[in-house]
Amino acid sequence: MRVLVVGGGHASLPLLANARELRPSGHGVTLISDCDRLWYSGMTPEYLGGVYTHADVTIDLGAICEREGVRFVPEPAVHLDPEARFVETASGSRLPYDVLAVDVGAANPATGRAPEAVRTKPLHRIGALAAFLHEVAVGESERTLAIVGGGAAGVEVALNVSAHPQLRGRLAVTIIEPGEALVSGFPPRARRWAADRLRSRGVALRFGTEVIRAEGHHLDLSDGSSLLADRVLWATGSVGQSWLAEVLPADAQGFVRAGETLQVSGHPHVFVAGDAAVVEGHEGLARVGVHAVKQGPTLRRNVRALADALGEGKTVEAAGLERWAPYPAAPLILSSGERDALFVVGSLALHGAWALALKHRVDRAWIEPYLSHPPSWSRRTDLRAAAQGPTDSTWETTAPRR
Ligand SMILES: Cc1cc2nc3c(=O)[nH]c(=O)nc-3n(C[C@H](O)[C@H](O)[C@H](O)COP(=O)(O)OP(=O)(O)OC[C@H]3O[C@@H](n4cnc5c(N)ncnc54)[C@H](O)[C@@H]3O)c2cc1C
Repeated sequence: MRVLVVGGGHASLPLLANARELRPSGHGVTLISDCDRLWYSGMTPEYLGGVYTHADVTIDLGAICEREGVRFVPEPAVHLDPEARFVETASGSRLPYDVLAVDVGAANPATGRAPEAVRTKPLHRIGALAAFLHEVAVGESERTLAIVGGGAAGVEVALNVSAHPQLRGRLAVTIIEPGEALVSGFPPRARRWAADRLRSRGVALRFGTEVIRAEGHHLDLSDGSSLLADRVLWATGSVGQSWLAEVLPADAQGFVRAGETLQVSGHPHVFVAGDAAVVEGHEGLARVGVHAVKQGPTLRRNVRALADALGEGKTVEAAGLERWAPYPAAPLILSSGERDALFVVGSLALHGAWALALKHRVDRAWIEPYLSHPPSWSRRTDLRAAAQGPTDSTWETTAPRR
């Protein structure tokens, strides 16, 4: 059977990293991905904060594909025909499939307002922000960064860059948030913690206004004011990718509707996982990596079971697919850029050095098996202390391929 994976995201990683198990049954696996590295979002803010290196927080998909015998097509997918069963890439290649697994994450809303801004989705685009931070660290003049969106992603990036010793006094950061508070889905105590911590480092917070146009260095805001920024980070949340919503059943935000087996409603040969999916019975779930990661093993088992069943001439129903269920609670830990972190689960918000230690333990345990090089934490005890001097920047993005 032809197994096609579109997007090498957090959810499809277990499938890709174990693709060799599909070969004895004669299945061939192909990955279409617009980037040859998967950026691990849990550690990316701390990469921007100088705690981790690029090689620590990105997974070499090309190397995994080579090891596992997966054909790698390094292009964005732009069209899906679920009736004729093929996916088309940006160069016009059509890749047919018997079983399709889609894990392309989400897109930022309203990107048309800021065509030159650095987007947080897909996350590899944030590499452009790292390059800018490096310029700031080695440059002479103070530069400015506008972060559009005061949700968890924008806030954690702001916390980390504002704490970086090489950026202090060189980078002025402003967060623009249309609501009246940062991280509005968090408990009040967590919102206060984030705002106080950012203000204490000189980060400017603009509430109740949104960016209606960002062009060059100029941002026009809905309250009639304007702002100048050398770089804009577009951290405006998530919507589904339109090329999928055009052809598959989707909700109002463009997220593809799936059942608990992760099969797309009405398209049993197509699985969708991670941020791109909205799973029946779990519509209110936040679009966070915790859920994508938990879907990974289910996606791996179900793709294999369906490919096996179809290969043996059985029906989809005979494949015996398992059902995914989210964690009853999914805690989020936001690193502060210093020696502590904020831990939030439901209405509980706590902070302390223990939360950062817990975050480091969980993040490193997850990513380490996928890395092709020994991570920096296995070589250094104090990562931030090791990143001293502008020429020893951890923002270096030219990591060895394998
Ligand atoms: C700054 C930041 C920090 C975050 N921190 C956390 C955190 O601490 N904890 C947490 O739980 N969540 C966090 N998140 C959310 C988390 O990043 C997402 O929920 C998670 O990445 C979703 O994983 P996924 O499997 O859906 O897809 P992703 O991991 O986003 O991967 C999708 C992949 O598909 C590729 N792709 C996209 N479009 C196409 C296309 N058309 N064709 C081919 N390939 C394509 C992308 O390049 C990408 O590699 C954070 C998000 C941001 C922006």
